Amino acid sequence: MAETLTSKGDVVIFGGTFNPVHTAHTHVVKEMSRILKPGKLIVVPAAVPPHKRGRGIAEAHHRVAMLELAMRGLPATISHVELDRTGPSYTVDTLRLLKAQEREERPFYLTMGVDAFFDFHTWRDEKEILLMSGLIVVNRPGTDHGHLPVDVMLGYLKEKIDDGYFWSSRENRFVHPRFMGVIPLTVPPVSPLSSTDVRKCLEKGDRPTDLLHPEVLRYIEEKGLYR
Ligand code: ATP
Repeated sequence: MAETLTSKGDVVIFGGTFNPVHTAHTHVVKEMSRILKPGKLIVVPAAVPPHKRGRGIAEAHHRVAMLELAMRGLPATISHVELDRTGPSYTVDTLRLLKAQEREERPFYLTMGVDAFFDFHTWRDEKEILLMSGLIVVNRPGTDHGHLPVDVMLGYLKEKIDDGYFWSSRENRFVHPRFMGVIPLTVPPVSPLSSTDVRKCLEKGDRPTDLLHPEVLRYIEEKGLYR
């Protein structure tokens, strides 16, 4: 379902904990920039994500350092917007801040794996988010709906978000008269990898060379993270 966004100035946000950033994350960034050709691609590491509090999350400065190593040479910038704020980071606030930083009004899109998409109704002010930004949903094998089933996604949007969503084959996305669109984007091939898998390997003392950028693995070993 490859397509380009509607205008060259579009801003694509890729948020996550990145604990640590792994090769599937960098692959998604590379493919999104190749397929969608956005005006700007911003990677936003989360401070203390509300749903992950109390789990072993490496300090923000380490996660940022690893992101910088992994994203070197890719057309993405790493934003500190959530890290500079105290308290939990909610996407709705992040979007407001990032939008305010743009000199002119440009369309925003928030990227998430399909696993995160099916939780979207639990996000704070999810409809407010959809007034400010569209969604890009990427496939994630190994999850229940890894292959982006349009019918299931539409059912979810109608039932949990708003009944006014419908599929537009002309635009290759779910559209709504008031809210911004939701774009299913098949990124070929994405591995079923997760940061949890990476942390498990590291805790066992393994060296997951194929799951991490070599510089990220070196950083983790030097700093003694995830032991
Ligand atoms: P954890 O295992 O700690 O929950 P994670 O691997 O899911 O971590 P996050 O930092 O939570 O990593 O992910 C950031 C974003 O990247 C999320 O939208 C997530 O759905 C997406 N993502 C992570 N891994 C993949 C993957 N293998 N394929 C596609 N999307 C992915």
